[in-house]
Amino acid sequence: MTAVHVPGIPVIEDGRLISTNPATGEEAGRFRVATPDDVTRAVDRARPAGDWWAGLGFTGRRERLLRWRGLLARRIEELAQLMHVEGGKPVPDAVVEILTAIEHVDWAARNAGRVLGPRRVRSRLILAEFTGHLEYQPYGVVGVIGPWNYPVLTPIGSTGYALAAGNAVVFKPSEYTPAVGQWLVDSFAEVVPEQPVLTAVHGLGDVGAALCRSGVGKLAFTGSTATARKVMAACAESLTPVLLEAGGKDAMIVDADADLDAAAEACVWGGLTNAGQTCIGIERVYAVEPVFDAFVGKVVARAERLTVGAEAADIGPITMPGQLDVIRRHIDDALASGGRAVLGGADAVRPPYVHPTVLVDVPESSAAVREETFGPTLTINRVPDADEAVRRANALPYGLGGAVFGRKRAVAIARRLRSGMASINSTLTFAGMSTLPFGGVGDSGFGRIHGEDGLREFGRAKSITRRRARSLLPSTTFERTAADVARLVKAAKLMYGRR
Ligand code: NDP
Repeated sequence: MTAVHVPGIPVIEDGRLISTNPATGEEAGRFRVATPDDVTRAVDRARPAGDWWAGLGFTGRRERLLRWRGLLARRIEELAQLMHVEGGKPVPDAVVEILTAIEHVDWAARNAGRVLGPRRVRSRLILAEFTGHLEYQPYGVVGVIGPWNYPVLTPIGSTGYALAAGNAVVFKPSEYTPAVGQWLVDSFAEVVPEQPVLTAVHGLGDVGAALCRSGVGKLAFTGSTATARKVMAACAESLTPVLLEAGGKDAMIVDADADLDAAAEACVWGGLTNAGQTCIGIERVYAVEPVFDAFVGKVVARAERLTVGAEAADIGPITMPGQLDVIRRHIDDALASGGRAVLGGADAVRPPYVHPTVLVDVPESSAAVREETFGPTLTINRVPDADEAVRRANALPYGLGGAVFGRKRAVAIARRLRSGMASINSTLTFAGMSTLPFGGVGDSGFGRIHGEDGLREFGRAKSITRRRARSLLPSTTFERTAADVARLVKAAKLMYGRR
């Protein structure tokens, strides 16, 4: 039976998952749908591959990962074009995304040995007769579940670090972007042909659920908060540790001493890049009263210049057709509850596109302020001062990133944001800095990818002590005497008893 193809909606036909461009309906690829047994088999095959990969050591893996990095860089146009065809993402956005991912592979490859490799740790006066050793050992096989909105950067943010740490990876790409996911796997196999160290399993959510229950050593999930809860529940059955990178509703704060032109430029990009389909995208802005009108004017002037369309446009189609209803509902709710559209508005949703929309004075209770919109829309609300801006920014259960524009108080404000990350006088930049950890708090998830914390996320700490001398003050033995215990009491008071 032949399924009806609606542009952008993945279908399963004859056991194959078919992905199509959301604007044109052009087919991007078709992939065999994995059964739960296939998923288990993929993980079983990955286990010995992981042992082999771990056995290469940091140097062997570094060399191969840097070769993969080189291949990604040389084929950047090819991959960007595929991302454009499959998800509708404008090619320049795709290029920036791939470049960022390449930087992460490079950093993870070069730094895994330093961060995770065996090293001696200092002992203290207690147990001074022992040396301490620490290393981070791989989990074996890591399962990675990815979303469609950044189909290269988000899986590589987990996969690149998991591989550098010595794990094999079984990857379940989003059903909306299987072709990009398979491309990543195939390109890795070109530089590591010996063993199935990185493989993909395709299908719908049930395939992701099967991966959670497949016996992987750890599960790294990136996607919505609702699915994150299901993933954690499934992993709880076997106590499989999880890393959850979930949704967000990031706020930007514009203080009175901000450079308004720079703030407006960064706000428009941070909110509308990738058609607003960005987990760390700016969705709400709080500008202090004295600069509010000028700031809104500058945002509108920039946002209204953006082009919308399938080819060579600033804003491409909405990748997931079902999201159009969410975006429409948020705009309608903002307007019905007293907000005003100073750009776009009720008629901005013209499937498969959404035209730039700027809403002001939107009640904080509105869905447009409280829920993830995932479209090229911004709410900008006026606040009396930066303290009130922080209070409102922190009022939601989400806590992924955020941005602050200002001078004198910007750092203090950024530190007070209840979020895993923040950028000052720019938007989204923390995602590209490979030395910084990336992740959220609250409904945005927990655990970190990127940076040293991101490497440690994919290794189990292994602690070893080794005796180097006889114990002068025996404590960890039944052969200790009453006099030894008395000396221990005296030592405890001497060392820790001071007030
Ligand atoms: P979803 O949660 O819908 O899907 C994410 C992945 O989980 C997909 O591969 C999906 O498969 C899979 N999945 C679905 N159901 C299950 C299940 N029961 N068990 C296991 N896996 C399952 O998110 P989207 O793909 O729509 O991505 C958008 C969301 O991701 C937004 O909320 C965004 O904020 C967030 N995100 C977070 C990031 C971060 O770093 N914090 C980065 C990027 C996005 P299928 O697609 O086949 O249903």
